Amino acid sequence: MKQLHMLKIPVLMVSALALFGLSGAGAAQAEEKFITIGTGGQTGVYYVVGQSICRLVNRDASKHGIKCTAPSTGGSIANINAIRAGNMDMGVAQSDWQYHAYNGTSKFEDQGKYAGLRAVFSVHGEPFTVVARKDSGITKFADLKGKRVNVGNPGSGQRATMDVVLAAKGWTTADFALASELKSSEQAAALGDNKVDAIIFTVGHPNGSIQEATTVVDSVFVPVDGPEIAKLVKDNSYYAQAGIPGGMYNGSPSDTATFGVKATFVASDKVPDKVVYEVVRAVFDNFDRFKGLHPAFATLKPEEMIKDGLSAPLHPGALRYYKEHGWIK
Ligand code: GLU
Repeated sequence: MKQLHMLKIPVLMVSALALFGLSGAGAAQAEEKFITIGTGGQTGVYYVVGQSICRLVNRDASKHGIKCTAPSTGGSIANINAIRAGNMDMGVAQSDWQYHAYNGTSKFEDQGKYAGLRAVFSVHGEPFTVVARKDSGITKFADLKGKRVNVGNPGSGQRATMDVVLAAKGWTTADFALASELKSSEQAAALGDNKVDAIIFTVGHPNGSIQEATTVVDSVFVPVDGPEIAKLVKDNSYYAQAGIPGGMYNGSPSDTATFGVKATFVASDKVPDKVVYEVVRAVFDNFDRFKGLHPAFATLKPEEMIKDGLSAPLHPGALRYYKEHGWIK
């Protein structure tokens, strides 16, 4: 990519640079470094996390030379796999999947421990959210049996967490009349078109996807609770009891009980400390601006973000910033 840019420099300019005795090394611009952040579907919050971070990083690109892009992806598991394969540098991932990737457990058992995974900070909470068409008659999780449910695309965090919930309940996807695998950005329309009875999304609130779903059709929020869920929360530090606040969407006048995870920001240990430091600096030096970029960020607090939901070691570039600010001793 860098070479392509160099090839595009007009011949005239090259000779002008030569004329004034300026070499690449002598130019004021820092060396360019391109980084990619894995996000999620376009109507989710991960996409906004990645876009917001990149926007803040890119504002100072002339100083540090880092150019950031944050494309839409399949979600948590896809992001961790892309980072591990060296195809992406950083990404957003649910706290449960950060834990399992680093420890080589659950969905990551076959691949083994990803020891090079590094935590950077956590972001918003993500309640495990189930929304059903009102005319489906579904009011509780047990009612999903025999219904058409979008369990989500493989690679998404909600799909992987749904598999954990099903196992805890002693179910499989065969208990549904249909278990579709639509991406998060496609599922609201499928609910509206009566292709499915219910959709699942582990996501911060409010978000565009659930807003769309509850606008296109009369819908209900389905609680995800009971003894199996209480046990999941009790046994695993990366889960917590959570609620979807009432009044955020049509069809949800009161709070809905469920459990949830944290959205976390992770990196490969191969990303240079200086790069991670600059990314972290862009976020925390401009923290009020960052918090204003999505309503799910409004209540974020740095002291929680640097520890909650993180199970991989902190990246040294992030640690340096946190120590400089006295947030970590
Ligand atoms: N938690 C979802 C996932 O891991 C993504 C949520 C979002 O797009 O905001 O795939």
